[in-house]
Amino acid sequence: MDPIHAIRGMNDLLPGQSARWQLVEETARSVLERYGYREIRTPVVEDTRLYQRSIGETTDIVEKEMYTFPDRKGKLLTLRPEGTAGVVRAVLEHKLLNEDRAPKVYYLGSMFRYERPQKGRYRQFYQIGAEAFGVSDALLDAEMIAMAWRFLAELGLSGLEVRLNSLGEAASRTAYREKLVEALRPHTAALCADCQRRYEQNPLRVLDCKVEGCKALAATLPNIAESLTEADRKHLADVEETLHDLGITYRVDPQLVRGLDYYTRTIFEVSAASSELGTQNTVVGGGRYDNLVEQLGGPPTPAVGFAFGVERLVLLLGEKAKPQQPRVFVAALGHPARRWAIRTVEALRAAGASAEMEYEAKSLKAQLRRADKIGARITLVCGDGELSRGFAQMKHMQGGGQRDLPLADVVAATLTALNASV
Ligand code: AMP
Repeated sequence: MDPIHAIRGMNDLLPGQSARWQLVEETARSVLERYGYREIRTPVVEDTRLYQRSIGETTDIVEKEMYTFPDRKGKLLTLRPEGTAGVVRAVLEHKLLNEDRAPKVYYLGSMFRYERPQKGRYRQFYQIGAEAFGVSDALLDAEMIAMAWRFLAELGLSGLEVRLNSLGEAASRTAYREKLVEALRPHTAALCADCQRRYEQNPLRVLDCKVEGCKALAATLPNIAESLTEADRKHLADVEETLHDLGITYRVDPQLVRGLDYYTRTIFEVSAASSELGTQNTVVGGGRYDNLVEQLGGPPTPAVGFAFGVERLVLLLGEKAKPQQPRVFVAALGHPARRWAIRTVEALRAAGASAEMEYEAKSLKAQLRRADKIGARITLVCGDGELSRGFAQMKHMQGGGQRDLPLADVVAATLTALNASV
């Protein structure tokens, strides 16, 4: 029989890697909750129209990257390519804006995009995202960036750069689009195939093309800063002022655009300077989306959000991982001793320790090998002889010391020894 493999671009997360993922996820929860965000979970599958209406019909995501399929009744469904649209739908569907005029929510979950897989870019990938609704003041944009920065700092990541830009409000965007189309028109033959398609429909995307010829041309195009309104400029200046106040270093990058149409005014990304991530070096992207809630049928509601790519954070973390709880191994010889062993691991676990035993009848040597293999800090050894005399032996696996303990004291003494060894 042919072996069945995972789908290309979709990865298994194996037990040996999960401590790093847990470090990322637990740090994220801790930081986001300190900033007042509460978790929201939305379905992985949504009505396809949700993404067409929000991300934009002419974006790469909607044009060629969505996993879209009919259900058994022919209704078109899509595996979520990003989290914001689903969150906005849920916020409106459950009227969260009536309960709280400024809800802050976060999510962790897998997203799906039919992209060309490479290091740091997959077809199923995980994002940690945050969305804050109901505030138009630039203080919140800056706080969002500060929160992303604090998360990265608490993960111990450095060598990262914050880039900031403003796409302006809708009117500024339209004016800029026209200028771009105008400026690109004489050069269309020099554009890559994708940009030739983008140029009339979504010319901002040309600014962000990775193809060399397009990059060179992009550097000569009009700057979006010239198309911003007075109010847009003031908003950007206010974001910058708060970033200064919060001590966050950033760079305004007029070439920065984002792959989703719903952004207005502030957009930002944080990228790794190191070559560790290759070309896929952006770890978080986000910005303000003041029209999206209304576009999806809600009341006019300003909003700001970001999304981190978890795989890229894990790649940057290298060997750093969530510290593992020290473990106890119980080695028993003979049937009565094995009955004692299962009661003992149960009691240790109930008291909060991580404990493991050998379930099969194995030699002491094999059991000690297993204790070593699982990295046990302490091993308790008990044979039927010891059991009948009412004691067990406690071995410190690293230091090598050992002592006999009365059975009644085993759990308490083991807990004390574990705490002393941390
Ligand atoms: P976006 O939703 O495109 O703004 O992406 C936000 C973040 O998600 C990016 O900065 C990446 O860190 C991550 N990301 C986006 N697409 C992928 C992908 N195909 N594979 C892995 N990570 C991704």
